[in-house]
Amino acid sequence: MSEQEERILTAEDTLNFDCHENLPCFTHCCRDVNIYLTPYDVLRMRTALGMGSSEFLNQYTRSFLAKVTHIPVVQLLMNPDTLYCYFVTDSGCKIYNDRPWACRMYPLDLHPHKSGCYRIIAGAEKCFGLKENKTWTVGEWLASQGVGPYDEMERLYQSVLPAGFKPGSPMDAGLGKLLFLAYDTDIFLEMLKDSKFRRLHGIDEKEFEIACRDAEALLRLAFDYIREQLRELYPLT
Ligand code: SF4
Ligand code: SF4
Repeated sequence: MSEQEERILTAEDTLNFDCHENLPCFTHCCRDVNIYLTPYDVLRMRTALGMGSSEFLNQYTRSFLAKVTHIPVVQLLMNPDTLYCYFVTDSGCKIYNDRPWACRMYPLDLHPHKSGCYRIIAGAEKCFGLKENKTWTVGEWLASQGVGPYDEMERLYQSVLPAGFKPGSPMDAGLGKLLFLAYDTDIFLEMLKDSKFRRLHGIDEKEFEIACRDAEALLRLAFDYIREQLRELYPLT
């Protein structure tokens, strides 16, 4: 690995990188790759494709509850014949404006041990963009990739977990099923259609109407519902 690739990066550090379709590696990073999706990734991708959440999850992902923690894991499927992502074309990603967080971050990722820091996860021998001369700060690069709304929605998702819950701690499988509603908001929308359910959870008609036509409002409402349920079911504090 080069010096650039080994560094622990903060948002103010610089990186040399430029990705464009004239590089010989163009779209190679969309092949045979493990991409784990967040609820907001699913929302953006399925909306771009004009699909419901259940249909998208069934067709393009495999999902399961993690052993021990029972946190839902949703993995983007690759085409088994080519090992390429189903959304890649010769001219790039066909859902580029709505590509998932992990694709926006690449070749960066969050540093696993240094909170608020980043690292480069690709080698310049495969990701030729790292040999290009364009220089950015990490913050500039992330802003150019539109990660802001993804980070905000992920923070909200993490905030549904009860105070005192330590990531990786074992919890009941019921937790995972409840959290999965954030991915499959079609199911949550069906629950919302029941007026008794809305009354019970203090969801007024205006909120309901907005959630019926605005996928992001629906997801925020799902987060509120999950948070409320988890606090009742798993009072950890
Ligand atoms: S491997 Fe790197 S430079 Fe090549 S297409 Fe992917 S991100 Fe861009
Ligand atoms: S979603 Fe788009 S950017 Fe991400 S792997 Fe698939 S084709 Fe590539």
